[in-house]
Amino acid sequence: MKLAQRLSNLGTESAFEVLARAKALQKAGKNIVNLGIGSPDFRTPANIVEAGRKALADGYHFYTPAKGLPELREAVAQDCLARRGVAVDPENVMIVPGGKPTMYFAISMFGESGAEILYPNPGFPIYESLIKYTGATPVPIELREESGFSFNPDAVLAKITPRTRMIILNTPANPTGGVVRKAEMDRLVAGLEKHPDVAILSDEIYSRMLYDGEQHVSLYSYPSIRERVIILDGWSKTFSMTGWRLGYGVWPASLIQTAERLQINSNSCPSAPVQVAGREALVGPQGDVDKMMKAFDERRRVIVAGLNAIPGFSCVMPKGAFYAFPNITKTGFKSKELEVKLLHDAGVAILSGTAFGALGEGYLRFSYAASLEDIREALARVKNCLATAGVK
Ligand code: PLP
Repeated sequence: MKLAQRLSNLGTESAFEVLARAKALQKAGKNIVNLGIGSPDFRTPANIVEAGRKALADGYHFYTPAKGLPELREAVAQDCLARRGVAVDPENVMIVPGGKPTMYFAISMFGESGAEILYPNPGFPIYESLIKYTGATPVPIELREESGFSFNPDAVLAKITPRTRMIILNTPANPTGGVVRKAEMDRLVAGLEKHPDVAILSDEIYSRMLYDGEQHVSLYSYPSIRERVIILDGWSKTFSMTGWRLGYGVWPASLIQTAERLQINSNSCPSAPVQVAGREALVGPQGDVDKMMKAFDERRRVIVAGLNAIPGFSCVMPKGAFYAFPNITKTGFKSKELEVKLLHDAGVAILSGTAFGALGEGYLRFSYAASLEDIREALARVKNCLATAGVK
């Protein structure tokens, strides 16, 4: 068999590989604490589960419209108005199976040989993978610890060339927990106004996961660029629904038909009962989301304090999402080397910063979507492992 050449450009999300390795070690009898995967450990709130169960009993067994159930698209539009302050036409909302399909559709719309796409590095690994898969050139937007893992708007704008087709931004960010501030966004948007042909993919999947009173600044709230902004959001993280596979895109009117065509050519539509559950998540009581965020905030403080107490580690306080991204350069280990060592010697699954791009060298990603007990155990094991390795 001869595979298509472009497949050799496809990358991966090593969180899934580390998860598989951790599970295999567990099966072989090893005790593993898993802070590798970005999947909240809470049960999906009971009202959402019940809505999904009832939908199945009520006969939601069939195809829905390709863009999703009208009542769910309406609920998404209302949620956008409430959280982003912008009225959205439900016709421009497309429900998809998870956060990733919006990413896949948007990058495949604009990526091709000769095109350039700007993306955050370190950043969610699938951006770079898909850009390369389409044959386009990935152009990294460097996120630096010194600037709280936000970006320098002037440096970003300087990377735009006549070949730039799209820019991808993600705030709050995976893997750094960094949050882009309004002043930086204002400057970036002012510059983007001078590049009217550049599409903007705004990955806002962590937009409800903010701490210390931080406010989410959506690129959608800027009228001057709104006609070329694609919002990516979904249910996985906020409602602890990673396995349900439900997300949405808000598309410019000029792109929604192409997006719908891509959906028809791939998924047909998202699962019907899952969409009913997704509507309940948006319109039902929000107390469980608040409770989960309170728990994440406590875990954030515990993990950052614990990481900073490990010789050779230093960790800035993340402002959003549920990841800590400590600098480990002073340990003398390379990131990947330490990822492997911690899994095998200490039984702690975490990810090398390089799983998120070359600029993640010198960092590790710890997901604190895990119990306080697991977080404390992982911290003790990492500290012990480094002490045994002679790190001072
Ligand atoms: N975008 C970012 C930044 C993410 O971190 C993730 C998942 O980790 C996704 C998108 C994909 O979300 P989903 O699991 O709903 O496809």
